[in-house]
Amino acid sequence: METKKDRLVRGTALEGRVRAFAVRTTELVDELRRRHDTYPVATAALGRTVTAAAMMGAMLKGEEELAIAVKGNGPVGRINAEANASGEVRGYVQNPHVHLPSNSLGKLDVAGAVGTEGFIDVIKDLGLKEPYRGSIPIVSGELGEDFTYYFAVSEQTPAAVGLGVLVEPDNSVRVAGGFIIQLLPGLTDSEITEIEHALGTLPSVTALLDQGLEPEDMLRQLLPDAVMMDELEIAFSCSCSREKVEQTLVSLGQQEMERLIEEDEQTEVVCHYCNETYIFNRDELQVILNQAKS
Ligand code: ZN
Repeated sequence: METKKDRLVRGTALEGRVRAFAVRTTELVDELRRRHDTYPVATAALGRTVTAAAMMGAMLKGEEELAIAVKGNGPVGRINAEANASGEVRGYVQNPHVHLPSNSLGKLDVAGAVGTEGFIDVIKDLGLKEPYRGSIPIVSGELGEDFTYYFAVSEQTPAAVGLGVLVEPDNSVRVAGGFIIQLLPGLTDSEITEIEHALGTLPSVTALLDQGLEPEDMLRQLLPDAVMMDELEIAFSCSCSREKVEQTLVSLGQQEMERLIEEDEQTEVVCHYCNETYIFNRDELQVILNQAKS
C-alpha cells in the first residue's frame, strides 16, 4: 500500500452548528509501534489515544498543548499522549508487549487491554497560570466511547468520537485515524436524529480509510453539507533533548548525581515518549554537576 502523509481536516456543517475533525494517523501510529515495539492490541490502544490527542490538539491555538493519560485497570497499563496545535504528537504505553485473543467480534480487544475501570485525564496547557484539568471515569475501554463521554461531561459539548487502528498480519499499521463531530447549540431534534442515523450506519473508520477515503471524505459521509475550513499535517515529534535531560539530572539533586558518578561507568536516560537513549559518562556528569553548583 502506498504511504500517504498523515493529515487532519477541520470542517463545519449545518451552518456552523456542527464542528468536525477527521484525521488519518497511519504513519504516526506505525512510527510509535516501531519506536516502542508495541504488540497489535497495544498498538491499537495507543493508536486510538494518540489519534484522539491529535484531533484535540487541533482544537487548540498557538503554543497551547495537551496531555492525555488513560489509566485503566487492563494489562497495557497507563497510556500517555501529548499533542499541540501544530500537529505534533507523541505517546507511549506502559506495557507494549501485551497479547490478547480477539474479542467476540474478531477484532483487537482494546477494551480488554485498556481495562473497563479507571480514569482518563486530560490536561491542557493554555498558557494560563493553572492548566485546565478534566478527568472522567472509563466507561467502555474501547476509547471512542470514552472520549465521547469526556466531551459530554468535561467540555459540556456533546460529541461523537470515532477512533480506529487496523493492524497487518506482520504487526505493522495498515490504517489508523478517527473523527470528532461536535454538536453545538442550535441544532434541531431532527438534525440531531439525522446525525445519529449517519453515525449509526457509518462503516468503521478503518474500513473507510482502508477503502482509500481521505479524512474529508469521511466527514462528508457523516455530514453531507460539510465545508472544510483548513487542514493540518500530523506527525510524530518528541520535544526531548540532551539539554532537557541534563536539567532532569540536575533536578535529582547533588547527592543523587554524586551517587550516579560514583556507582556507574555511564548513566543512561531513556525518554519514555520516543525511546531515545541519552548516555552520560562520569566526566560529563561531573561537568553538569559542577555547572549546577556554580
Ligand atoms: Zn523523546
